[in-house]
Amino acid sequence: MSVVTSVCCYCGTGCGVLIEAESGKITGVRGDPAHPANRGRLCTKGATLHLAAAASGRARVPELRRDKGAPRERVDWETALDHAADRFRRIIREHGPDAVAFYISGQLTTEAYYVFNKLAKGLIGTNNVDTNSRLCMSSAVAGYKATLGADAPPGCYDDIESAGTLFVAGSNPAYAHPILFRRIEDARRANPDLRLIVVDPRRTDTAAEADLHLAILPGTDVALYHAMLNVMLWEEWIDRAFIAAHTDGWAALRDRVRDYTPEKVAPICGVPVADIVQAARWFAQGPTLSLYCQGLNQSSCGVDKNAALINLHLATGQIGRPGAAPLSLTGQPNAMGGREVGGMANLLSAHRDLDNPAHRAEVARLWGVEAVPERPGRTAVELFEAVRRGEIKAVWIACTNPAQSLPDQNRVHEALQAAECVVLQDAYADTETAAYADVLLPASTWGETDGTMTNSERRIARVRAAVPPPGEARADWAIATAFARRLDPARGPRLFPYATAEAVFNEHRETTRGRDLDITGLSWEMLDSGPQQWPFPAGAAAGQVRLYGDGVYPTGSGRARFHAAPYRQVAEPIDARYPLHLNTGRMRDQWHAMSRTGRVARLFAHVDAPRLAMNPSDLERRRLKDGDLVRVKSRRGEVVVAAEASEAIRPGQCFLPMHWGARFMGGHGVNALTLPLFDPASKQPELKHAAVQVARADLP
Ligand code: SF4
Repeated sequence: MSVVTSVCCYCGTGCGVLIEAESGKITGVRGDPAHPANRGRLCTKGATLHLAAAASGRARVPELRRDKGAPRERVDWETALDHAADRFRRIIREHGPDAVAFYISGQLTTEAYYVFNKLAKGLIGTNNVDTNSRLCMSSAVAGYKATLGADAPPGCYDDIESAGTLFVAGSNPAYAHPILFRRIEDARRANPDLRLIVVDPRRTDTAAEADLHLAILPGTDVALYHAMLNVMLWEEWIDRAFIAAHTDGWAALRDRVRDYTPEKVAPICGVPVADIVQAARWFAQGPTLSLYCQGLNQSSCGVDKNAALINLHLATGQIGRPGAAPLSLTGQPNAMGGREVGGMANLLSAHRDLDNPAHRAEVARLWGVEAVPERPGRTAVELFEAVRRGEIKAVWIACTNPAQSLPDQNRVHEALQAAECVVLQDAYADTETAAYADVLLPASTWGETDGTMTNSERRIARVRAAVPPPGEARADWAIATAFARRLDPARGPRLFPYATAEAVFNEHRETTRGRDLDITGLSWEMLDSGPQQWPFPAGAAAGQVRLYGDGVYPTGSGRARFHAAPYRQVAEPIDARYPLHLNTGRMRDQWHAMSRTGRVARLFAHVDAPRLAMNPSDLERRRLKDGDLVRVKSRRGEVVVAAEASEAIRPGQCFLPMHWGARFMGGHGVNALTLPLFDPASKQPELKHAAVQVARADLP
């Protein structure tokens, strides 16, 4: 039996795992005691990785649909790649480079992310390359940049044990980041004075553990944070010396929050005045570590929510020292690595910006191409809308399932139907998206591939192959490389010479030289001996554990910036016709669209089917009872599920898990209901809120 060190492929905690393999099969998995994120522990999902790895439904051979409506047939790799290259070349020749697009995934390795971005932005000349990470953390990226100057989480997991107050906002780590939640529980057992504040409309398992739970009404986060700052100002709990020495924009924010008194905000947020004051007091006392996730990010004002929370850290000096930081949690295992290589339509390698001419020129030089195009690329929702309208004619999808995960599914399915060419590169052949693939390319997945991933605390870890992939499946970076060489036989082989993931990593590493995330001091061998945090510049003995301890921010002026945006309500308020707030989110033992976890029977022991959680009073008002089948309708679509009475949900709200889609429940799952409106700056859609109506399923 062999044992190979790698990381879990689910959430952004990035737990280290030891993969046990025998005779080319993964036979078991254990937590890696040497990994600093989890110290040997795994949650239920991580502990069953080997069962998901052995499950059926894998894509094993390339398949090609030669004509729309015809079935796909098995072909060899050369035929599949030649066909895709011919289609892309013809479309680019006839309609220009922006008529093609790539939609990739925060579950790819950093190396695969890097190759796809160079392929789109460097070789083809389109910025139409976006990622499902747009759905989970682009508001956090924009929030960090707006306030601290760079997309760099300043804290680390060890801050959990150093904090005096944990402020968990729009996040349910008990389900979404279980090993971090175990660390929170341990830290509170070791230090009974460690306070836990949770801001969440629902009484989640995390909220149930809190010393103070602020069950705010959906979307009112900015009003709450401004009210907390109002209290801090009134009580003189702010750090005036820190504000004077290290920040800009204080006067505008101070003027903004004057009107956000706790008395005015309490009815907006639906929480008592005393709780707002208590939260402000504990936050200011600190040291305070904020942990936040989709409740802030998946919002039409997600950047304002992120920045309003960071305002509190800056106003109280709760940053840059042990236990004090705004630490955004990434949903996916390598959303952070994707950000590092500029893996979004508006970003470039090593935290450079597409709209900066000097950055475009630098990246073009590093890549050895003439130029990186200036035209903005389409972001996730925009990209598929452009496909639907026929402006984008070919789309290449890698390691993700937009036919379930994007909002307003009817339009996404129309888009996939309308596309001239859909290429899907995935480990699974039976996802909702696979049904639309004209070219299906089998990819390797967890336990079968080499590369690196970065977790929520900027820690880069090696992922390793313990076994060969099944059938003819190949590594994602290798598939993108092979396509690039075929697409442009003149330039492709020179620009994409990679024979190993390490070669890609080395090229990516060079692009970080002198940047805020400089990793020129790292090597593949060093990562082989253990994960490392960035930045790690040449000559450094170790990565940097915390950022901004020197009070200097990468903003140009060296000072952090307050963000004084007003509170805005949700994009689709409830009304008489759609009177319920719908919230969506994760279950503890499922992952995304269940491509992996949906194949492991043990993972259905916690929750076996999707249910619409509603307050008992709302069920009673509709003459419904627990278990009744209900029809949930929004302006865009409907789903039929069982209702579940839950005191964890406040009256006037309901909650539906995000995981179950067409494969499990017919229709389109929860995203038949969600709306395609997004934050204007981050372009992250408001997956966390829609106005819905609920009635007995057998009523018309
Ligand atoms: Fe995997 Fe996240 Fe669970 Fe760790 S906490 S084992 S990374 S799913």
